[in-house]
Amino acid sequence: MDNKKMKHLLLILFCIVAVYAGAAEVAEDSVQTTKEDSVQTANKVTAIQEDVNYFDFSNMLIPITHTAALLSTYGVRDHRLHRGVDVRVTTGEPIVAALPGIVTISKFNPGGYGHYVLVQHDNDLQTLYAHLSKRTVKVGDRLLPGDIVGLGGNSGTNVGAHLHFEIRYGKYNVDPATIVDFPNWKLKEGANRISKSDIITAHQQMQKKLKNEFYVVKEGDSLESIAAWFKISVKALCRINNISPEKPPKIGQRLRGSGQ
Ligand SMILES: [Zn+2]
Repeated sequence: MDNKKMKHLLLILFCIVAVYAGAAEVAEDSVQTTKEDSVQTANKVTAIQEDVNYFDFSNMLIPITHTAALLSTYGVRDHRLHRGVDVRVTTGEPIVAALPGIVTISKFNPGGYGHYVLVQHDNDLQTLYAHLSKRTVKVGDRLLPGDIVGLGGNSGTNVGAHLHFEIRYGKYNVDPATIVDFPNWKLKEGANRISKSDIITAHQQMQKKLKNEFYVVKEGDSLESIAAWFKISVKALCRINNISPEKPPKIGQRLRGSGQ
């Protein structure tokens, strides 16, 4: 090949690379424009396999990097729904994303989750990591399983350092123990085939159970004392029950400690 032909060939190659690079940049830009685009792009990497009726969680990572005591399970606790599991961690240890996705919340909630991160995954799944001592991601960050979302801690709570970990499918809470065998810290055998309708049914049964968990307002009660009974903040109590210091509950009124 003479020099001229070589130059010509190099020019063609350069053009091809430039076109591809341009396309990649456009794709990167479009990720910033809409949340949906971002989620789809993030999940192209190791998207959770989806069947119409089942989730395959076999790619899910346990969000801590070692085994640890399970301090509290999912379910009714303190007359309200404990929406996740509590896992003992040490302050400052890395907490990692369980699935690929995009960060949709990274903030501090003083009366509840403390420093927490919510990650949106494919197929309407979300995971939440709370009581962190530090958040290391911001809204819009795209994560792969194993990427650090923050460091363990006890922000928002006055008990010892622990990770509060939730899995959600749209508006439904998922008991992480349906996927993870906690004493052994492995994915359960059926984790590759978790029925969506079972998730919905379990959520509805939990809501029925919660209907029996309420506080009847008595004379002399204050918003503070009732919030303390549920172990939630006054702000949360007011939000859940549509009450406020200006619009206090009436004697005999039934108050709840968790929303639907
Ligand atoms: Zn918890």
